[in-house]
Amino acid sequence: MKQEQQPASEEVTEVAPGVLRLQLPIELPGLRHVNTYLLEDDRGVALVDPGLPGEESWTALGARLDAAGVPLRRVHTVFVTHSHPDHFGAAGLLAETSGARIVASETFKTWFDAFDVQGDAVDDELDDTDPNLPWNLRAPWGSPLDDTVPQHRRAVMDRFRQALAWFRPPHPSLRLADEDPIVLAGREWFALFTPGHTEDHLCLWDPTEGVLLSGDHVLPTITPHISGLVEGDPLARYVESLDRVAALPDVTVVLPAHGHPLTDLPGRVEAIKAHHEDRLEVLGRLSDAEGWASVPTLARRLFAERNWGPMAESETYAHLEHLRRRGRADRRETAGLLEYRVR
Ligand SMILES: [Zn+2]
Repeated sequence: MKQEQQPASEEVTEVAPGVLRLQLPIELPGLRHVNTYLLEDDRGVALVDPGLPGEESWTALGARLDAAGVPLRRVHTVFVTHSHPDHFGAAGLLAETSGARIVASETFKTWFDAFDVQGDAVDDELDDTDPNLPWNLRAPWGSPLDDTVPQHRRAVMDRFRQALAWFRPPHPSLRLADEDPIVLAGREWFALFTPGHTEDHLCLWDPTEGVLLSGDHVLPTITPHISGLVEGDPLARYVESLDRVAALPDVTVVLPAHGHPLTDLPGRVEAIKAHHEDRLEVLGRLSDAEGWASVPTLARRLFAERNWGPMAESETYAHLEHLRRRGRADRRETAGLLEYRVR
């Protein structure tokens, strides 16, 4: 079993000076826990990536804080590395219950931003033609971004309303730009803008102790999903972001959002880059066999059936665009869908 698939441990462990690791349960493809890091200072604690929305994760978070001897009201900061639910889940509720500030990237954006939520109520008098509504968004390759069609809006809104019993949408009160400093655990850290997995991913680097909080940018044994929604050439931007963290001086420990701490950052970065080179080769061979083909078609060839869907399409698109921008693929549009042919 890969590290990232191990169930959440109930133990609270010190993983770097002044940094404790708590694990919260999640059930996502290939992932069964998220690491929430707790950074203590004189004023209280900062939490990094406080798990999924919902009662189970909220209860587990309370139990881990108890085990660490930290009352909820001591949480003064919630740092969210990026806009995925296993990372921002409890942020809004922590802000509401403990008065914590939420800190994230200046480009941080979630599905919930299009909705007007007050406490546990959501205004669903929506203008269905609003292009910002999640079910109206289309991916750059032409497919709908959300599988939910407007006809199911009632059901989606009902689920949303139920979710608000244990969840608040996160609204950062401090948004960091690349290299902005922030004091946590009594020392200075720097936000590193690291797009690729998402457009709004931040790592936190502590040059004093040589710690890198890597979020989902670098994981120990699985390769982070590349998002086709990242502007420009998503894969190139991801690889640039990888090279950037690999070149940081004197990193002694990397603390990822899933799996165990790792120490050989340049080695892990090389392995992730090699994985993507392999995938580009495979995609080239599949494209040869298919001829002109849409992103969904190629995604179904590239990924196992259990992984089919918007995420597979998104990563396939990222690889195809990378090949095209390197002059190794052609693109055309047919009936609103992009099609590619690798040369
Ligand atoms: Zn994650």
